[in-house]
Amino acid sequence: MATPYRLLVVEDDPAVARGLVYGLRYEGFEVTVADTGARALTALNNELIHLVLLDIGLPDMTGLEVCRQLRAAGKRQPVLMLTARDEEIDKILGLEMGADDYIVKPYSLRELISRIRAALRRAYGELAQPNDNNDEIRFGNVLMNVASMNVSRDGQPVILTPIEFKLLRYLVSNPHRPISRDALIEAVWGYTSEIEDDRTVDVHVRHLREKIEADASNPRWILTVRGIGYKFEP
Ligand code: CA
Repeated sequence: MATPYRLLVVEDDPAVARGLVYGLRYEGFEVTVADTGARALTALNNELIHLVLLDIGLPDMTGLEVCRQLRAAGKRQPVLMLTARDEEIDKILGLEMGADDYIVKPYSLRELISRIRAALRRAYGELAQPNDNNDEIRFGNVLMNVASMNVSRDGQPVILTPIEFKLLRYLVSNPHRPISRDALIEAVWGYTSEIEDDRTVDVHVRHLREKIEADASNPRWILTVRGIGYKFEP
């Protein structure tokens, strides 16, 4: 059997932490717990951690600050943010923080585990491998290199997060076709969401438009299909 993945649970509420540890160990994960941001950063330096579950409200610093510091230290593990507040979502998914995904409390353990498994697959499994035949895709002034994951606009590099890149690649690979938010979640994030009002896709599409469109509020490439989702129009 393969070595189990080790997750770092960063949570200061002992009851919540205990519940998570119990549920995650039951699923076969190894778990390290940290109850402060400082202890989380120490654990990341001392142990082989495959994924970080990060509470936003911590006693010594915010979870966002922990995320920013671990990315600044060059750590690339998937980070899943646990937040109680919808309005933080935009900040969480922003490039400067470098989190991969978030889940709003209260969440079901089942939903959390499906997102953890999806993030691990994206980072370490089959979804981490690009599978397109064409290395380069060009539309208008935008050039994507699938092998190197580089994107440029008018010859200037555009910095996309891994999720933004996967989202763009998926849309571009399915031109003219309206794709639902659920289908995008499944194809790009690799899980089936049970959350009705999931804003994950919309927030990432907005960030993507800001980076590749000349006018993000009047997009040329990534179009909104009312009542469905999005489509790429080459
Ligand atoms: Ca907390």
